[in-house]
Amino acid sequence: MERKMCLYCAKWDDISDMTPLYEQGKEHVDYYCERCVTHVKINLRKVPFHHLYTWGEKGSV
Ligand SMILES: [Zn+2]
Repeated sequence: MERKMCLYCAKWDDISDMTPLYEQGKEHVDYYCERCVTHVKINLRKVPFHHLYTWGEKGSV
């Protein structure tokens, strides 16, 4: 199974346990683990450019 690194805690995990975050206009996708995703979602709401980001379903690429 493919593994991805959480951008927040730098922990590697199976992609099925990671939640992708897409940035408008960019092909690069960031991944966050179960432990960090809630925290990151709350933080992202506070930044002025949060409308450029879209969360994907957990386990999708
Ligand atoms: Zn993490």
